[in-house]
Amino acid sequence: MQLVRQKEDKTQHGHRYAAGPRGRFGVAVAALLVAALGTACSSGSEAPEKPKAGKGTEAGAAGALSAAEKAKAAQRARIVAAKKWGLVKPPLTAPAAPKEKPEITTRDGFEVEDQEEYPPVFTTVPTEDKVVFLTIDDGAEKDPEFLKMMQELKIPYTAFLSDYVVNDNYPYFKQMQAAGVTLNNHTLNHRYMPALSYEKQRQEICGQQDTIQKQFGKRPTLFRPPYGNYNQDTLRAAKSCGIKAVPLWNAEAFTNRMDYREWDRDLHPGDIILTHFRGREDWKGTMTDMIRHVMKTVTDKGYSVARLEDYL
Ligand SMILES: [Zn+2]
Repeated sequence: MQLVRQKEDKTQHGHRYAAGPRGRFGVAVAALLVAALGTACSSGSEAPEKPKAGKGTEAGAAGALSAAEKAKAAQRARIVAAKKWGLVKPPLTAPAAPKEKPEITTRDGFEVEDQEEYPPVFTTVPTEDKVVFLTIDDGAEKDPEFLKMMQELKIPYTAFLSDYVVNDNYPYFKQMQAAGVTLNNHTLNHRYMPALSYEKQRQEICGQQDTIQKQFGKRPTLFRPPYGNYNQDTLRAAKSCGIKAVPLWNAEAFTNRMDYREWDRDLHPGDIILTHFRGREDWKGTMTDMIRHVMKTVTDKGYSVARLEDYL
């Protein structure tokens, strides 16, 4: 056991970016299967009672009309908001949440020993929808303009919070949560997990589960290890703290550029984008500058931003 763990530590230090395109094909195959099951969608997602969406027929056309009008009104509001926030193009509207959630498995090359017993680790969600997911980490910067911008543009995102930078201003994140954002686990103190014992890792992860539950009334189901580094103990601890999935990322957004994990330096359907709660001290810009940049990239490439939780 000890030998195995040491070996894993060695292979996992700092090589998280190196996984080649091979991993993508596994994901692509899964995406095809999922797509075959449930891509009929589009209209009526917000109606309280969904009319039975006939697969590829005109069924439910009457209901679709008002939904289309609703969508048009929403798009008009988005155009106004986009102008206000300095976006060249308004964000594209995400398709309705998939009726069947894709089956998430650990990305090739990201497994630990006995991976199947632990929450899956992935960088892309298998889907053929032209969507990406925005995830924001840590929590140091608490920019009220950012909250306003995201709400007015109706851009969904998921937060991964580390308590040591969040605990001076819980109300900021309460406001975020009230706007529909899910607050997830990024440990208490943002330590490099593989350097810690199982017990220490468990304190970091379970401790943050308890803190988020106490402060925000909800226990997270998603966990992201600091720096994207983990070993078997990390996943074992996360599982024991009630974590169901470990989303990493396939692209990282800054105020003036995007970094990509894949060799093609591009976005793909279902890619998870990472960025941070950071401000001028760390970046040449503000969080709203960062959102402007990431949204320009995403929209220019023809993607919309969807809610990660809708797919998990
Ligand atoms: Zn972090």
